[in-house]
Amino acid sequence: MRKAQQSALQRYMARRGAPPAPAPDRRPFTHWRWVRLAVLTVLLASTYALVGRPRIAEPVKLTYEIDLTAAATGRLVITMICDGDLPESLDLVLPPGVFGNPAGGVRARDPQAHELGPDGRQVRPLHVRSVEDGWRLETSGSRRTGFIYTVDLSATPGSEQDVRRHISTPVAGGVRAAGFEIFLEPLGVAVSDLTVLVHNPADMPLLVPWPALVRNEGPRRSASDASLGFGQGYRPAEDTSLATSLETPAAAAPVPANLMFHPRDLADLNNALLVCGDIRTLTTQAGDCVIQLATDRDWLFADEAALDLVRRIARTEMGFFGSAPTDQITVLLSANDITGSERFDVYGVHTGSSVLVMLDAETTWGMLEEQAASVIAHEMFHGWLGEAVRQTDPAMLWFTEGATTWYAARMLTAAGIWRPDHARGVLGARLDRDYAGNGLLGRMPVATAAADVMASNEQVRYGYAGGVTACMALDEMLAEASGRTRPLDEVMRRLYTEHRGQPLTRLKLEETVAAVTGVRCGVWLDTYVYGKTTLPPVKSML
Ligand SMILES: [Zn+2]
Repeated sequence: MRKAQQSALQRYMARRGAPPAPAPDRRPFTHWRWVRLAVLTVLLASTYALVGRPRIAEPVKLTYEIDLTAAATGRLVITMICDGDLPESLDLVLPPGVFGNPAGGVRARDPQAHELGPDGRQVRPLHVRSVEDGWRLETSGSRRTGFIYTVDLSATPGSEQDVRRHISTPVAGGVRAAGFEIFLEPLGVAVSDLTVLVHNPADMPLLVPWPALVRNEGPRRSASDASLGFGQGYRPAEDTSLATSLETPAAAAPVPANLMFHPRDLADLNNALLVCGDIRTLTTQAGDCVIQLATDRDWLFADEAALDLVRRIARTEMGFFGSAPTDQITVLLSANDITGSERFDVYGVHTGSSVLVMLDAETTWGMLEEQAASVIAHEMFHGWLGEAVRQTDPAMLWFTEGATTWYAARMLTAAGIWRPDHARGVLGARLDRDYAGNGLLGRMPVATAAADVMASNEQVRYGYAGGVTACMALDEMLAEASGRTRPLDEVMRRLYTEHRGQPLTRLKLEETVAAVTGVRCGVWLDTYVYGKTTLPPVKSML
């Protein structure tokens, strides 16, 4: 019998820590990934005990082959090949909400399994049965199994408020799929190698904004050339400082017949985003970084104008930090088909340093500049703070989210996209409503409010707006104590240059603050961020 979604969630969290999802913003439950990343390592080691499986001596190799043949009808057929010292029975699971939630947008069905010979031939069928979160495969001593299933990305009801349910969906002529919703994973076995192959027999336009795959700058050598993607045909701009090199959609949307990549680990696999169908892409460059805009629909504004907006934001953020976190940043503009009463006009989700933005079909250029730009700037900023400087500890969410929101507004102002008075108005209104005017003020520490990803809307807003206020107030306190202007800017840059790839901790933040300003801020943080004392009023927001 299927249990309710919540218990599927709890089971999943017990096994893996948290559902792996990109971090959608402006909604509660926004930061599953952070939580997941924090515990993934521990879980890989502890899964055996939790699920009571015998220890497997050798890590297994996993290969996923995604067949796009039926993508235009919203279906992906996936073959998962497990190689190695397999247990007698292997549980293959998807995150919660996929199994056991018929209202979810993604359904996996039609499982078939075979033992495979060394040459890939099907040697004999293997028994499969349904279990609560997926399927149980009786491997019967096989060392190589092929498990075929179909993923149906039929539309999620528009009234579904959770933005994560809208990431995997049919799009014009194809599908958009999040790794965490399409890849089954074996429970209780260690995984060494991961390979993802995409079979694209109809040569449909295909994008993998994350991971940002290797670009092939030359012409495609053959139909089976396993290189990738969307950078094909890309030409570097003559003047990389300012020039915008726009390509025709035809040249910028290559159609590889086959694509292959190797996720570093299961987290990487879950973070993947894949889009195929009637997609137009445009590319340009900011410094060494390729900036790409992709969309599957026509808008009331020109693609070129949107790309230029994205490029200006990217250039400003790269200029602030000194370099790009990855060699490629993709912004995907899509329709917002969420219709519920509490919907937002714009949704943003980042995966790696790429950004999915869901907008109303009627979005005008003015709305793009005023509203969507802040979502793009925010999500892109997470490429540095959140991804390069890794957000893993929930107790640091106040800083990761607060600083990202504050800096996004400052970046938009610096890029000339927002006027300073507009930025002050937007930030000020949000802080008044969600922090100063929030019933939790003085009753709950900001850090506590921001850390709880399962909290109510009111609490999440309080935690995040409190985080913004705390970052501004910390900057002002440090400026007064050290005589520096905007000392937090240098703290951000140092975190990025000196702690790249490492998890952000409170200790690391305090040490970096001390290194930049000479100020020990531990007591201040205990008082205003980890304590309930109301933050002092902020003198200057920008
Ligand atoms: Zn965020």
